[in-house]
Amino acid sequence: MHRETIELVSATPGQRHALTVLRFGQVGRGPKAMIQAALHADEVPALLVAQQLSQLLEAEEAAGCVAGEVVLLPYANPLGLSQHVLGQHHGRFDLHDGVNFNRHLPDLTDAVATALQGRLGSDSKANAALVRLALREAAVKLSANDPVTDLKNRLMQLAVDADIVLDLHCDSQAAMHLYALTPQADLAAELGALLGAQAILLATESGDSPFDEACSRPWVQLRERFPAYPLPLGCFSTTVELRGECDTDHTLARRDAQAIVDFLRRRGVLSGPPVPLPAALCQPTPLAASEPITSPLAGVVVFHREPGQHVEAGDVIADVVDIDTGAVHPLRTQSAGVMFARVATRWATPGRRLAKVAGTTLVRKGKLLGA
Ligand SMILES: [Zn+2]
Repeated sequence: MHRETIELVSATPGQRHALTVLRFGQVGRGPKAMIQAALHADEVPALLVAQQLSQLLEAEEAAGCVAGEVVLLPYANPLGLSQHVLGQHHGRFDLHDGVNFNRHLPDLTDAVATALQGRLGSDSKANAALVRLALREAAVKLSANDPVTDLKNRLMQLAVDADIVLDLHCDSQAAMHLYALTPQADLAAELGALLGAQAILLATESGDSPFDEACSRPWVQLRERFPAYPLPLGCFSTTVELRGECDTDHTLARRDAQAIVDFLRRRGVLSGPPVPLPAALCQPTPLAASEPITSPLAGVVVFHREPGQHVEAGDVIADVVDIDTGAVHPLRTQSAGVMFARVATRWATPGRRLAKVAGTTLVRKGKLLGA
């Protein structure tokens, strides 16, 4: 294992933040995986899984089983790790401007398309190599004079030529679930089966360029721009939601890290006999069909369903109790499916999304992810 430190641009004299990068295997030898923990810096179960993963990958390397290359960031957002307000950790939004750390990652498609003009041919593998080279070159040119933009650029530079990108997050209170691109449903289902995912949400574009899509969507868009040339979807990228923010458990973290190692072996990043795929706990469903359960009023929240439970259309997911009148407002789901996540607070404000159900019947439009 090789450890690197990348100092981020400083906006404050005397203050520096740095990324730690752990590298396993050899650059350019085989398939590359980039795995980062807690871009939303307060989603700490991801940090725990990364520690376990580091140990497992060191053992793989000692056994000579790293066939390709793994880049692991045990904490992807040192800026967010340092943000505390009145005793509370805030790692999701940049406190300077309220921007979500996992939105507005650079879209390199235009730069790559320009670089590819007149260079693609009939060989899919050669075309993929050209795309990777152009992605690397476009990412290297990204520049920043503030730490957050620099962080986003550096993460892209580490990930953009990878075959596999795993962005490790968690939700507030949740079952294991994944987000991925619709054309990569099979790979998402494979990883989901290994991790025991209870929901897999698919979209072709979820809006505002989250990290996973900034890595994988250029391949989809380049295929559309150059339809005459064969081009694989060269990067499988997914956001892995490692249950809820309080789900730090040594046994679960070890199991999750092992599932990721098993996936890397099945994908050829690690060598050795692959484990058979366990039975899937869910089938992928469209993100556009996931139903937000939203409160119309302020009040006290009383949940009737636990994360991971199956629900039927019309089931009461939660009550919101009006503290002026005492009236109890039941919030029902329109969709049958799995309630895969809910908020950790028990105070609702009007319009607050309290829970999410992975259904199949709704069709939402526009930005599909919440803030
Ligand atoms: Zn997150």
